[in-house]
Amino acid sequence: MNNKEKTNYQGKKKFGKKPSDRQKQDRRKNFYNNPRKSSDIKIGDEIPLKIKRLGINGEGIGYYQRTICFIKGALPGEKVVASITDVHPRFINGEVSKIKKISPDRVKPIDAYAGEVGGFELEHLAYPAQLEFKRDVIRQSLTKFRPEGYKRFELLPTIGMEKPLEYRNKAQFQVRRLDGKVAAGLYKEGTHDLVDLPTCSVQHPLTMEIIRIAVELFEKYNVSIYDEQTHTGSLKTIVVRVADATKETQVVFITNTPELEHVDEIIDELAAQFPEIVSFMQNLNPSRESLIWGDKTLNLRGKDTIREELDGLSFNLSARAFFQLNPKQTSVLYAETRKALELSPDDNLVDAYSGVGTIGLSLAAQAKEVRGMDNIESAIEDANENAKINGIENAHYEFGTAEKVLPKWLHAGFKPNSIVVDPPRVGLDNKLITAILESAPEHFTYVSCNPSTLARDLVRIVEKYDVEYIQSIDMFPQTARVEAVVKLKRK
Ligand code: SAH
Repeated sequence: MNNKEKTNYQGKKKFGKKPSDRQKQDRRKNFYNNPRKSSDIKIGDEIPLKIKRLGINGEGIGYYQRTICFIKGALPGEKVVASITDVHPRFINGEVSKIKKISPDRVKPIDAYAGEVGGFELEHLAYPAQLEFKRDVIRQSLTKFRPEGYKRFELLPTIGMEKPLEYRNKAQFQVRRLDGKVAAGLYKEGTHDLVDLPTCSVQHPLTMEIIRIAVELFEKYNVSIYDEQTHTGSLKTIVVRVADATKETQVVFITNTPELEHVDEIIDELAAQFPEIVSFMQNLNPSRESLIWGDKTLNLRGKDTIREELDGLSFNLSARAFFQLNPKQTSVLYAETRKALELSPDDNLVDAYSGVGTIGLSLAAQAKEVRGMDNIESAIEDANENAKINGIENAHYEFGTAEKVLPKWLHAGFKPNSIVVDPPRVGLDNKLITAILESAPEHFTYVSCNPSTLARDLVRIVEKYDVEYIQSIDMFPQTARVEAVVKLKRK
């Protein structure tokens, strides 16, 4: 304890006075800057920890001398020895080096490199416990932001998949030479070190088979592979997307230079082995930046798009078009959204953050009118095109941010009685919340992919709406990602 703390403490005792703001500030400063014992810890140290729970990114949380520690690969209830990888004034990161007491929920990960690259961070946790974790993350976020009445919110058990594997319809793998050999996979977390992924249990098997054969062909034809260090070579990334309903598949080669040697022979061989591939495209990305896609996409052979079907609707997916990554759970997600919205034939529905219009179009038959918006112009073109393809005449999509477009519509006299929002991880813009609270549609459903911003947004939303329930849905088994449908009812 330093002198200042002593004075404060004694002062409080003697005079029974509350500490001044200044004193509080000083104490807080001391708390974070003043070394507790734990800050003697250095990178590489090994410390014993008891794991209390899982944090929002799937790491095990334990406390060392009251400092929070995030330990990759550790599970609640376990006693571990953690190897420290990072020390911050307020928290410590580490990874498991030894497990002294093992959780009964620990399972052997299917993928050998689980934990090394993103996308499998919970593969060592039994699936029922993964589902419980996802509900708990929502509970943790609500406890942090405390929207009024949060203790009474009904958190329904997470809806999982019967087979929580092989669900990802798209693989977007970097291609590099590792020790002279062609490799295709993902980067190690937080680095640009490629990990070759010969198998990947969450990917649709066809995407993996195609990539493995493609890698052999790149080797056979000695294709020029991109080198990040020297910014030379051509092939950077291979993208394979399969449409779950039709099995139509698209392969995209993303290249640094326009020419890709022997691409015709490679396409011949791939097409002969995989009749599912109906579209071969090339995307040109000469930039040094780490953005994956460039602006120019060319057709190499076959169609420009693949056809996917969802809930009886057809969608043409171009190489860049956004489409949910887990088609089976997307049907579940939309069914839950439909249930929460309780549409009637006279309803005007807003589909905010619409993407290519999948939610709104799947609900259009049950409403009088659907209007949606998205801030990506090509997504809006696709959404309107998708309405046309499916003969839907009462849905219209407009380019622009939700926070600008909704107030504009309201100003022009549009009266929605139902709204669904499906924002990205940043959650809702404050101006959009204001517009929703002012127009107060009777039914409001919030589809969230980030429990933190959801809990934050609910603080304002509950001024006018009751939370009837929060239904978590597992869109990404084996990962820590959490998706939820929140049913809101006007007070
Ligand atoms: N509802 C769609 C897409 C949801 S993803 C589906 O189920 O497939 C979130 C979408 O929000 C993305 O398409 C993104 O382009 C869009 N977006 C991001 N910020 C936005 C904003 N401020 N206003 C409107 N749309 C936005």
